[in-house]
Amino acid sequence: MSILVYTENRNGEFRKPALEALSYAYGVASMSGGSVTAVATGDIPEEKLQVLGEHGASRVLVVKDPLFGHFDPGAFTSMMAQAVEKSQSKIVVMASTISGKAIAPRLAVKLKAALVTGVNGLPLSIDPLTVNRRAYSGSAFARVKLNSEISIITTLQNSYDIESNPVAMTVEEFVPEVAGLPAAVEVLEEQRMEDGKVPLTEASVIVAGGRGMKSPDNWQPLIELAELLEGATACSRPVSDEGWRPHEEHTGQTGKIVAPDLYVAAGISGATQHLAGVSGSKYIVAINTDKTAPIFEAAQYGVVGDATKVLPKLVEAVRQVKGK
Ligand SMILES: Cc1cc2nc3c(=O)[nH]c(=O)nc-3n(C[C@H](O)[C@H](O)[C@H](O)COP(=O)(O)OP(=O)(O)OC[C@H]3O[C@@H](n4cnc5c(N)ncnc54)[C@H](O)[C@@H]3O)c2cc1C
Repeated sequence: MSILVYTENRNGEFRKPALEALSYAYGVASMSGGSVTAVATGDIPEEKLQVLGEHGASRVLVVKDPLFGHFDPGAFTSMMAQAVEKSQSKIVVMASTISGKAIAPRLAVKLKAALVTGVNGLPLSIDPLTVNRRAYSGSAFARVKLNSEISIITTLQNSYDIESNPVAMTVEEFVPEVAGLPAAVEVLEEQRMEDGKVPLTEASVIVAGGRGMKSPDNWQPLIELAELLEGATACSRPVSDEGWRPHEEHTGQTGKIVAPDLYVAAGISGATQHLAGVSGSKYIVAINTDKTAPIFEAAQYGVVGDATKVLPKLVEAVRQVKGK
């Protein structure tokens, strides 16, 4: 059985969620005795495509049509539906990124396929296909059986490790039928985020601040710690509502859902709406003056203390360990 995986790339660089989804697809293929076909868009040089073979794709379909140079959910859905037919795949995998979330439900409708989103582990069984997914904003898991001929799975970011699974790979150009597919959205301008900044949803380390940080002027040690650990900064919703930090940094039920290896929560109380977005983190370290704050129940490690004093000391300690 062929497992089809959509591998998102930016200028030919395959993003972390794409490689996680590909590793996941390889895991599913191994369970089912099948192989992985990856779909990639853009005029990507052969050497950049090699990474797909290193992570388990034995066949790569490259779509070079300029229509796919910008993300249009309708066009990408049509292209993926044609790729499913071409590869005769019964299981489609993609990451729970903004584009994955846009394509997956449309594709499910188009193919009359079952869709399960936010899956965080390999299937419990292949026939019938049964998986665990995140439920109730991360406070529970649901076990789901997919009952259709074609199944679509989106993988929760940072919850499946990128694995090295080198296989022999063939690359072929895939030319989907695009007639009658005018882009529903025309991109007028694109503004890329600062170069070198780790996107929040892909960061392995996140250092987040809440209202307990007292003022935006106190953010420097938090930023320094994130930089030292090659991570990203985040915040609670009131902090972004106050304009202390940009809205794209806010994590939680109404913000970004993240699952880093390490989430440092400084001056964050741990309200359920905040935890809904961060409870998938492998380790939470809380720094809070109130030892009864709910964040300590979610955290594996905690410091009861003033974050504005603890963070600079933490920065100093990490600098010493790293020799920086
Ligand atoms: C529908 C809805 C959706 C929501 N969605 C979100 C969401 O997506 N994300 C989100 O974050 N919130 C969300 N909220 C808000 C949420 O309920 C909480 O109000 C919010 O998370 C609290 O933010 P906070 O922990 O930064 O602030 P507070 O609740 O004010 O907590 C500040 C914490 O800092 C501690 N503190 C004070 N001084 C210090 C110090 N010097 N050093 C260390 N600690 C200190 C305090 O003990 C306290 O625990 C939502 C609310 C609603 C109603």
